[in-house]
Parts: sequence; C-alpha cells; structure tokens
Amino acid sequence: MNKLQELKSLLLEQPSPRVIITTHHKPDADALGSSLGLYHFLKELGVHAQVITPTDYGDFLKWMPGESLVMNFETTVDESEELIAQADLIFCLDFNALKRINRMGELVAAAKAKKVLIDHHLEPEGFEDFRLWTTSASSTCELIFWFIELMGEVDKVHAEMASCLYAGIMTDTASFRHSSTTPTTHRVAAKLLECGAVSNKIHEAIYDNYSENRTRFIGFCLSEKLQILPEYKTALICVSAEELKRFNIITGDTEGLVNYGLSISGIELSVLIIDRSVLRKMSFRSKSRFPANAFARAHFNGGGHFNAAGGESQEPLDALESRFRQVLPSYVEYLN
Ligand code: 5GP
Ligand code: MN
Repeated sequence: MNKLQELKSLLLEQPSPRVIITTHHKPDADALGSSLGLYHFLKELGVHAQVITPTDYGDFLKWMPGESLVMNFETTVDESEELIAQADLIFCLDFNALKRINRMGELVAAAKAKKVLIDHHLEPEGFEDFRLWTTSASSTCELIFWFIELMGEVDKVHAEMASCLYAGIMTDTASFRHSSTTPTTHRVAAKLLECGAVSNKIHEAIYDNYSENRTRFIGFCLSEKLQILPEYKTALICVSAEELKRFNIITGDTEGLVNYGLSISGIELSVLIIDRSVLRKMSFRSKSRFPANAFARAHFNGGGHFNAAGGESQEPLDALESRFRQVLPSYVEYLN
C-alpha cells in the first residue's frame, strides 16, 4: 500500500474525519462484506463511517452485521449527495472504474475527499489518492484483512467483522475453489475463524437461503434455456424479461446461475445473458485459457477477471445473442 502513514494520520489524527465507504452497483458478498468489514474496523478505531451502495442488493446478504445501517443511494439521493460532498475520505472497495458506481461516480469524482482504493480487479482507472491494489488477492475482503494487518491492528478483529470478511472470501473464491485461492487466502480465512466467524453458519446464510421461486427458476433455466454450442465448448443461457417476471425474480436471484454451465464436463466457457429492465447484462465464466475479461471488454462494454467477467449492452436480447454467436468463432483457439 502506498502512503500508509499519511492515510493513518488522516484517519487517526483528525478529531472526527467524515468517512464514506462505497462499492460497486448490485453489490455481491465480497463488495458488501468488505464494506461492512471495514466499517466495523474503523468503528473499532473510533472512526464513524457511512456505507453507501449505489443500488440495492440481494436478500441473501441482509444477515451481515451492520447491514441495516447501509444507505442505498437510489433511495437516499439528496442525503447521500451531501454526505459525499462533505466527506474527508471515501473508501472505494471492490471496483476501480467510476462507471461501476453508476450516478455516484460523478459525485465521487467531484468530491473534495481523498479517495482510497482497495480492490483486486485488473486495470484501475486511477482516480484514487491511496491504493491497496493487487490482482493476486482472492477478494477485496482478503485485502481488507491485509489493510488491518498493515495498520497493525489485527487484535481489533471481532466476530462480526470477521463474519463479513469471511463471507466475501468464501464467495469470491467459490468456497476456496478458484485458482485465486492461495495459502495466504487460507491463512486469512483461518485467522477470521479464530476471531469468531462461523463457517457453516455463513455458508448456510448465503447458499441455503433462496426463495422457492428462485430454485424453480434455476430448474427452468437448466432444463429449458440452456444451449450447448459444442464446436465452441460453450454453454449459453439467455433469459427474457418475461421469464424474469414469470418467476418473480428479484435482485440476487440470478447470482450463481452462470456457474452451472461451467460445471458441465468439456465446457470451457459459460455465458448468461439477462434482459434486465434498462439493459442486457452479460456474465462470462471460463475454465482455463479463454480470456473472459478481454472478450467482454472488446465486444460487450465490460471487463473483469481472466476467468470471470461481465458486460452489458443496450441491444435487444435476440440481437445481442446473435452478435455473441458471431464474435465467438474468432476465439475458437482459446476454447480448445
Ligand atoms: P458477474 O458476472 O458476477 O456480474 O461479474 C463477474 C465479474 O465481472 C465481476 O467481479 C466484475 O469484475 C466483472 N464485471 C461484471 N460486469 C462488468 C461490467 O459491466 N464492466 C466491467 N468492467 N466489469 C464487469
Ligand atoms: Mn470481489
């Protein structure tokens, strides 16, 4: 981390710095877990922080300690604008391009506050003053733990903080499966367990908490919507707005759906296209050599990690699927 001493003094030597923590839109467990983990940590240092998310998030995250104090920008625009404008420090977690926080991006860019980036995605845009960044961390939650270590304050980690951080490490590594899981990841996870995180409870809160609708929707997608493109070792699911409505799908319900395609033997790339109300959202997951992030960036206004990326488009669902099918053949060498 650069300029740690300077950041420390901004946090600890001012009487009461005004601190905002934010993360990417539609936060997942790593985004919300890192935000709340940092919130609890700063509170232990005597620093009050306000977490503001650009949008809402899934119900499966609402068990996280401190969640009820989070402000959703969409429903608190005036109040949030004022807090952002007045802030001394803004922590930006689990994203590195201001576009990922929607309308909040312009406000954060214009704010007088110093910005602290803590993130593990490729190609940071560079809007920040302080940076704890590496793509070699499994998750932003792991980086928050590193930050606490760098601050020399590991003894301040309590069970609630540890639970938020453990949740993000667990989900971003798909339960310690992805290649991003390192010995350090396991050491951090072990430390969080020692501090009071309860692994099976967190697993249950996140993975065994779906609605009946969501489970039937997954079944429908797998039996009726899954297409296999054998020549490209690709699995594709396209979900229409009508289907989302029919199953009463809400924020968070489509999380994880893209992974089913990848679990098929011989499949190298799994793609999910969802007809959200304003635009079409795409998710890409690959097993080995297929560069999901470069593919998303080149064709679908997106990005992400090498094996897990996303993108978006204004095109109608059918047109977007056709265009995907047109560009895929030029990547065949990465799929074999
Ligand atoms: P998901 O498929 O779960 O929405 O996203 C997987 C990963 O892809 C995220 O962790 C994020 O890094 C990246 N990602 C998803 N959507 C976008 C997007 O629209 N733009 C960029 N740059 N990255 C995205
Ligand atoms: Mn993450």
